[in-house]
Amino acid sequence: MKKKILKGSSVIVILFVIICGLIFLKYANGITLIQLHDNSTRQMMGYLITSKDETIVIDGGLKEDAQNLIDNINRIGGGKVDYWFITHPHMDHAQAFIEIVQNTNIEIGKVYVTLNEMDWYRQYESERIEEIENFFNTIQSEKIKSKVEEVQLGQIIEINNLKCEILGVKNPEITTNAINNSSMVIKMDINDKTLLFLADTGKESGEKLLEAQKDKLKADIVQMAHHGQNGVDENVYKVISPEICLWPTPEWLWNNDPGTGYNTGTWKTLETRAWMEAIGVKENYVEKDGDITLRIW
Ligand SMILES: [Zn+2]
Repeated sequence: MKKKILKGSSVIVILFVIICGLIFLKYANGITLIQLHDNSTRQMMGYLITSKDETIVIDGGLKEDAQNLIDNINRIGGGKVDYWFITHPHMDHAQAFIEIVQNTNIEIGKVYVTLNEMDWYRQYESERIEEIENFFNTIQSEKIKSKVEEVQLGQIIEINNLKCEILGVKNPEITTNAINNSSMVIKMDINDKTLLFLADTGKESGEKLLEAQKDKLKADIVQMAHHGQNGVDENVYKVISPEICLWPTPEWLWNNDPGTGYNTGTWKTLETRAWMEAIGVKENYVEKDGDITLRIW
């Protein structure tokens, strides 16, 4: 009788060890994601992801945001970035990258871009041509040009067990809100979790995404398009149906407050916040609250 009880308890101990081992393995095979905070009075977007010993950056923010990004790359990535995705060349996404390439020794492995012809930028967003030229000059510089790759729609980039799929690239035929609507959209699968980075995708390219990729949009975690306002429409978010929202949104924009009080501006952030609440989003992580680190496994 005593032996039988011992046998039974040994089985329980072995099962417990196996389950703990499996949980640990899954955790160890996860990723760490840092949403970087804003360091100026403007909006920005920057994410740093680590998958085992590989470091991935999505955008990075303005020049003012570069030092915080550098500190995080040194602390987490040991001074190197293996994969850098630049979703589009607007300065609030690409200027920290330019600063790091031009003025630091941070080692960069691969740079993924989606870019229209220079004349297209001149034609459709001439008022921002200087920042676009700065970006082009940087990626064409001797230091980095061999590392730059134009992504293709549907391309899959595997980084350890993190699978990145390119769901959206440049859309030269969309000429309203042109550069934002030519944002790279990246879906990331890690274990059984899915993350979707919409960058600054606008209404028009959001509709295109919905038409062409509807069955691929569902995600557990979504980066809110265009800093959480005036990005994709509610129907896109309904299809994504996320549990967690990442908001690259500074405080003034989060509160739609241009300095004259809560919800006195013209930004659509509060409307977007209401959509996500109605969808049943459980957690919101907002840029205004500082660097936020999540373990996803
Ligand atoms: Zn932006």
